[in-house]
Amino acid sequence: MSTIANSKYEAVIGLEVHAQLLTESKAFAPVSTQYGGAPNSQVTPLCLGHPGTLPVLNENLVRYIIRMGLATDCKIAEKSIFARKNYFYPDLPKGYQISQFETPICYDGEIHIELEEYDKIIGLTRIHMEEDAGKSIHDQDPYHTLVDLNRAGTPLIEIVSEPDLRTPQEAYAYLTKIKQIVQYLEICDGNMEEGSLRCDANVSIRPRGQEELGTRTELKNMNSFRNVERAIAFEIQRQIDLVEAGGEVVQKTLLWDSNKNETRQMRTKEEAHDYRYFPEPDIPPVVVTDEMLSEIKAELPELPDVRLQRFMEELELSEEDAIVLTENRYLADYYENTLEKLDEPKAVANIILSEVLRVLNDRSISIREFTISVERLAELVSLKLEDKVNSSAMQEIFNEMLSDERPPEELAEEMNLIQVSDSGFVEPIIADVIENNPDEVEKYRGGKKALIGFFIGQVMKQSKGKANPKQVRELVTKKLEA
Ligand code: ADP
Ligand code: MG
Repeated sequence: MSTIANSKYEAVIGLEVHAQLLTESKAFAPVSTQYGGAPNSQVTPLCLGHPGTLPVLNENLVRYIIRMGLATDCKIAEKSIFARKNYFYPDLPKGYQISQFETPICYDGEIHIELEEYDKIIGLTRIHMEEDAGKSIHDQDPYHTLVDLNRAGTPLIEIVSEPDLRTPQEAYAYLTKIKQIVQYLEICDGNMEEGSLRCDANVSIRPRGQEELGTRTELKNMNSFRNVERAIAFEIQRQIDLVEAGGEVVQKTLLWDSNKNETRQMRTKEEAHDYRYFPEPDIPPVVVTDEMLSEIKAELPELPDVRLQRFMEELELSEEDAIVLTENRYLADYYENTLEKLDEPKAVANIILSEVLRVLNDRSISIREFTISVERLAELVSLKLEDKVNSSAMQEIFNEMLSDERPPEELAEEMNLIQVSDSGFVEPIIADVIENNPDEVEKYRGGKKALIGFFIGQVMKQSKGKANPKQVRELVTKKLEA
């Protein structure tokens, strides 16, 4: 069996990503977009396209998409228009979706992706605005399909890539980058599992070296980045096997089944689309003025790639640490807000990368739900830097702080963890340890210097963690070498 890694074929992948925007109201109607309301409670005649209603464009939809366009080096059209995409479906009572067709507002952009062994630039064909449909619910009633129209009219942007991706891993890296950018821009929460990011993948193969693109299939229904990666890998292999066996790829839409890890064909009836796009007559063209553009530019936050570089150059973090800290905007903010209280980039990075991330992972929460404030985290790190507590004590205090609001220093005192740097306190302990371990002393003096760790450990233990390890090392060395 020939596989993609060693085969004479190369895969070509283009992604269409939908991002649900975090605007408070719908794209063309003043109704809340808040998730979780009672079914059909956030619907107006406007969302249903009743005769006599007129859509009104939500300005934030335009602003958000321009943010995305600027962040991905797109050209921004001075004038773009909406179009009606006509089709029938029970969750689309209007009979059409308002979208953009010939004149998307953003076009010709690029997204930089990083893989383990190389970096690559992926072209963006376009980013356009559209509205979402409602939701058909098939699993609540044994005999009927239910329809919830709360989502109808929720604003989306669709980000269409050039067919520049070549491997499932590149597709994964591309999605990760999109998620990171939309989160930095605060235009979408980027959560694919919950449906605020959705991705369709177009996949074809061609003999290596051939310019012309092969016939593609379109994959739908992947609800996580991993599933997109798996579905693409599966589809590439399916196409290779098919062609190798003398068959031909047929253009069609396939649904990913994440339980069986395979694709299956969608009923052909549902693929035969003829959307009969035509210009939306009820919404005037969107005109982007220079003034609006410079205003939005000025509001753009520092983007992830720039922030990563700055963390490495200004804060002298390693690339590895900087990547983790900038992966999520709010984690990077938390880090920098802590630095405002305590300007110790390395020490603060260390506790976030170890302790804070451990808690976030264990509890499956985001940094925005994390309960230790930056002020208190800074106070804790200061205790350590001032040698008031040692590192294992810092960890213990940190754990206590998760459920106790009191200042770290008070906790340290109560937990009896304040380090004693008075040599009168440790000297008797050191003497005791040396007296009780004559064999180790002999070996150490005979040249086995690595035993120093053993002595320090014993002293720390007897001091119940209160001794200052640096001081202990000095004093023990002095004693043993005397
Ligand atoms: P449609 O309107 O049918 O969705 P588009 O031409 O807009 O089709 O392309 C949609 C996506 O498919 C884009 O991301 C594009 O890069 C990708 N694409 C187009 N042709 C191919 C192909 N032969 N193989 C893989 N991807 C492709
Ligand atoms: Mg498509």
